[in-house]
Amino acid sequence: MLTFDEYQQRVVAAVRPLAPRSVPVADLADTLTGAADGHPLLGLVTAEPLVSRVALPGFTNSAMDGYAVRAADVHGATPDAPVSLPVAGDIAAGDTRTLRLEPGSCRRIMTGAPLPDGADAVVQVELTDGGLERVEIREAVEAGRAIRRRGEDLRPGDQVLPAGTTLLPRHIPALLSAGAPQIAVIPRPRVAILSTGDELVDPGTEAGHGQVVDCNGPMLAALAAECGFDVVAVRRAGDTGEQVREALTELAATADLIVTSGGVSAGAFEPLKLAFEGDADFEFVKVAMQPGKPQGFGNIAGATVFALPGNPVSSLVSFLVFVAPAGRVLAGRDPAIRTVEAAVAEKWTSPPGRQQFARVVFDEDGRVVRPIGGQGSHVLGGLAGSQALAVVPAATTDVAVGETLRIIPLEGLA
Ligand code: AMP
Ligand code: MG
Repeated sequence: MLTFDEYQQRVVAAVRPLAPRSVPVADLADTLTGAADGHPLLGLVTAEPLVSRVALPGFTNSAMDGYAVRAADVHGATPDAPVSLPVAGDIAAGDTRTLRLEPGSCRRIMTGAPLPDGADAVVQVELTDGGLERVEIREAVEAGRAIRRRGEDLRPGDQVLPAGTTLLPRHIPALLSAGAPQIAVIPRPRVAILSTGDELVDPGTEAGHGQVVDCNGPMLAALAAECGFDVVAVRRAGDTGEQVREALTELAATADLIVTSGGVSAGAFEPLKLAFEGDADFEFVKVAMQPGKPQGFGNIAGATVFALPGNPVSSLVSFLVFVAPAGRVLAGRDPAIRTVEAAVAEKWTSPPGRQQFARVVFDEDGRVVRPIGGQGSHVLGGLAGSQALAVVPAATTDVAVGETLRIIPLEGLA
């Protein structure tokens, strides 16, 4: 039997980031059309630094609505002794003319509009009478007031984002403005899901005697999508080694990662084991954890395969602690999934020698947890009602009130 940490480290160490691919930065503008199938770039990791090709701002411009002046021309202006200047015209945002400000005059200017040559300050409109032909300026300003200089934000050659940045909405303005047409990113891992079991029937159909609805397929697909992976197939195979091998070979053609459920434990008809036990590219192990003791891991035609146990709770836990970290590595990310800490509000027991992932709910303040439902790996009601998994170390058998545990939230996985 492997410890939980041993097995987790083994599967994470077995995978490498996918090959980067160059994508048009303009894809970032695709927010609305891309939303349904996952944003084309958000959540992806950059594979190279983004270096600005341009100066930002690209031209010196006004930071305020007001009047572009030479500071020397409004020297000494006060509310009691305003300076009056002729207004030579307006400059709106989007004005592409190259203008020059004659000494002793000013121009009305809007936020973001280019500063005319010769001007060195902007007097905000609130410090004036707002005049159109002539304007009364009621406060002196120093040179540089209310202007944004060309290149003060970024200069050509400045690094905007380091390699390894997970692209988030806050990166979009810099990415779109830095003048680079393409960026190299690590693609989303393509994930295929395969449920096994002769007892399974399609979701939405009635399960007869001896049958159960295939809930792992859709659940694992949903987990993969929530992790930001690209789900390319969700399929089912019966309980023979041939069916499973055939399905995996087909899925490997379009997937980087294949997640199967069922068929890895100690029964007489375990199709994953029938297909791959003894295969040099596969291993079937027992892991000192609960739920999720039987695990399989291997490779088929270049795709990484996680063979998870079939009980839905076992599948879910196994996905979160093995598949999600490995998938994150494929995506160029840190393998660690998000965890928090919380204190125990109600005692429970944990099996000796196995790291338990207990279904728990948070109390209102979010700082303490209590167990919910039975901890059997087939208990779906308890799973639906739970908000998190509490990680109980293998050596602990009695989880005591007040003890602090690591908690894996079941919401907001990405
Ligand atoms: P197995 O790991 O194949 O021995 O399955 C263990 C238990 O999980 C059995 O009760 C199966 O019926 C159940 N199970 C396996 N796969 C699924 C699935 N895709 N959906 C729902 N239950 C499943
Ligand atoms: Mg089965």
